[in-house]
Amino acid sequence: MIFRRNFLKLLSFSCVLFLSLPYKLLSSATKKIINPKLSKTQKDIMFNESTERPFTSKLLKEDRKGFYHCANCNAKLFASSAKFDSGTGWPSFSEALPGAFKTKIDYSFGMKRVEYHCATCGAHHGHVFLDGPSATGKRFCSNGLCLIFIPEN
Ligand SMILES: [Zn+2]
Repeated sequence: MIFRRNFLKLLSFSCVLFLSLPYKLLSSATKKIINPKLSKTQKDIMFNESTERPFTSKLLKEDRKGFYHCANCNAKLFASSAKFDSGTGWPSFSEALPGAFKTKIDYSFGMKRVEYHCATCGAHHGHVFLDGPSATGKRFCSNGLCLIFIPEN
């Protein structure tokens, strides 16, 4: 009887493992925590699609020349020349550097939004809207915690 119970336990465990394996392989191939120093909040935003509170980012007031990099993998994502004050409380950009992001349609909260992920590490960064004031018409609404600003020398 004990043997049978253990056998069943083992069987159900391997089933779960078997079923979750392809998903794990798939998500680990596209999403990877590279920076071990990421805070819990940063991980929540980058890997669990959370959003930082508006008007909390130190980058809102950043107006030096330079580039904004991924806080996880350090890939170059935005140039300071694309940054603008959208008044939304999140750092906003009119365009990303070529190939910096991959996009995905997000249907959460009953809205259809386009979210963007770092093309290198798969981390979630924010949503892109088509109401930007610039020539591109785009507004990349970024979580400041996902970005690291590196000023130009
Ligand atoms: Zn990245």
